[in-house]
Amino acid sequence: MANEDIFKKIIAHAKEYGFVFQSSELFDGLAAVYDYGQYGVELKKNIMDYWWKSMVQYHENIVGLDAAIFMHPNVWKSSGHVDAFNDPLIDNKDSKKRYRADELIEDHIEKIQNKIQKEVNKARKKFGEDFDEAKFRGTQPRVIKYTEQIVDIKKRMVDALEKEDLKALKQLIEDLEISDPVSGSKNWTDVRQFNLMFATQMGTTGEETGKLYLRPETAQGIFVNYLNVQKTGRMKIPFGIAQIGKAFRNEIVARQFIFRMREFEQMEMQFFVRPGTEKEWFEYWKEQRMQWHLNMGIAGENYRFHEHDKLAHYANAAFDIEFEFPMGFKELEGIHSRTDYDLSAHQKFTGKKIQYYDNEVNTGYVPYVVETSIGLDRTFLALLTAAYQEEKLEGGSERVMMKIPPFLAPVKAAILPLVKKDGLPEKAREIMDSLKYDYMCFYEEKDTIGKRYRRMDAIGTPYCITVDHQTLEDNTVTIRERDSMQQDRIPIEKIAGIIAERIRVKR
Ligand code: ATP
Repeated sequence: MANEDIFKKIIAHAKEYGFVFQSSELFDGLAAVYDYGQYGVELKKNIMDYWWKSMVQYHENIVGLDAAIFMHPNVWKSSGHVDAFNDPLIDNKDSKKRYRADELIEDHIEKIQNKIQKEVNKARKKFGEDFDEAKFRGTQPRVIKYTEQIVDIKKRMVDALEKEDLKALKQLIEDLEISDPVSGSKNWTDVRQFNLMFATQMGTTGEETGKLYLRPETAQGIFVNYLNVQKTGRMKIPFGIAQIGKAFRNEIVARQFIFRMREFEQMEMQFFVRPGTEKEWFEYWKEQRMQWHLNMGIAGENYRFHEHDKLAHYANAAFDIEFEFPMGFKELEGIHSRTDYDLSAHQKFTGKKIQYYDNEVNTGYVPYVVETSIGLDRTFLALLTAAYQEEKLEGGSERVMMKIPPFLAPVKAAILPLVKKDGLPEKAREIMDSLKYDYMCFYEEKDTIGKRYRRMDAIGTPYCITVDHQTLEDNTVTIRERDSMQQDRIPIEKIAGIIAERIRVKR
C-alpha cells in the first residue's frame, strides 16, 4: 500500500474510533487545529504521564513547572522571537499554494537522497553478502555526483538562511528547477519572511501596549522562572525543569494532520549546567531521549538522529530525533544546546541578575542549558503510525488492530458478558468494579462477542475479559490477548495481576 494511502487510513481510523476530530467540524472545520476524542485523550494523557514520570519522578534533580501561556510581551522581544521567529515563505503564482522555501529545498534534497539509496539497493542485490556500502558510496561515480550535489545545495541554503538572504533562497529554488508539488508550475513569487507568533490583546483599551503573544514554545516559561525554582527548590546545578503545555504557531504550511498544527502541545525540559560541560550533557540527553522512545517498544529502525544543518540563533549544537511517519522521516523531538543565550538575554533586558554561585568551583555564572523538546501530538501520530495494522485472519476475514504499547493503550481491559441475560451482566459488573479503580476499563454487552472484540482491537485494548455461563459455576473467565488473539481460561482473581504485568514500563 502506498504511504499516502496508509496515512489516509490512519486519519480516517483516528476519526472513526474517537481518537482525533477536526476542530469545529460542525462549522466546516478550522485549518490545522484538532480535537482529541474519547480514546485520543486517554492515549495523550498516558504519553504525558510516561514523559512526566521519566523526567520528574525518575530524576531526583528534575522538577516540574506549569507556567501560564500568556507572558509579558517583552519576554518575546528579549528572547529574539519578535525579530527572528520567522519562516521564509514562497507562493506559487499559478496554484496559489504557499510553501516554506526551506522545506521545498529540503524535499528536493530528499529526492536526491532517494536516488542514492536506489543505487545502493541495486548494488546490494547484485553483490549480495560481499557488498561494502561505505566503499560503494565513496567510489561509485553517480553516487559521488549526487552526494556532491547535496553538499552544495545544503551549503547554499544554510548560507542564505543564516544571512537572511531571501533573494539567494529564491535563486536556489530557480536553479534547482523546483516545481510546485501540486501543479508542477515553476512560477514563484519572491521569498518573504513570516513571523509565526499569534498576537492577541489584553485589557480593554485596544492599544498597542496591551499586545500579547500566544507562546510559540513553552521553554520561555521555564527560563523566566529559573531563579524562582532554583531558589525555592534549593536546586544545585546540574538540574532540570520540565513542563508540558500548549504552544501556538501560525504555521505557513499545515497540511499534515496533527504533525503540523497551529495549536499544539510540547513537553520540554531545560537542563541547567555549568558552562563548559554542556557538550557532555548534550550527549547524555541525546542518548536518554532515544532510549525513552525505544522503551515504548517501537522498533528502532523507525527512528534516526538528524544533525541540524543550520543552528538556531540560540544554539551551539542541535540534533533532532526523527521518526518515519507515513510522509517519510520527519522531526519528532529536538535536543538543543542553547548555551546561556536565553538567561543572559533576559538578564540584560531586565537588568536583574540571573546568576548561579557554584560552590564546587567557587565562582558565579549564568548557567548553560541543554534542552529536550518533544511534540506531544507528533508522538501521538508516531504511535498511531507504528500501531496501525491490517491483518488477514484464518477463514478470510480481516481485522484492523492498533498495536499500541499496552502501558499507553487508552483502555487496558474490556469486560464483556457473553450474553445479556442469565446473570452474566451482573457478574461482569462485579469484575468491572473490582478493576476500574486501578485500570481504565470498558464494559460492553451489546452486539456479538466477535464484533465487540473487533472494536477493542481497533482502539488497541490489550485484553478482553469474557464472562460466560461457566464463570457462574467456577469463577473463571476467558482472557483474550489482543496481538495473538489467544484465549485462556483463568480464575477471576488472576486478572489484575496479568494486566499489571503487561503494562509495566521497561526502563
Ligand atoms: P519543524 O522544523 O517541524 O517546524 P521545529 O524545529 O520548529 O519543527 P521546535 O521548535 O524544535 O520545532 O519544537 C520542538 C518540538 O515541538 C518539535 O520537535 C515538534 O515535535 C513539536 N512541534 C513544533 N511545531 C509543531 C507544530 N506546528 N505542530 C505540532 N508539533 C510541533
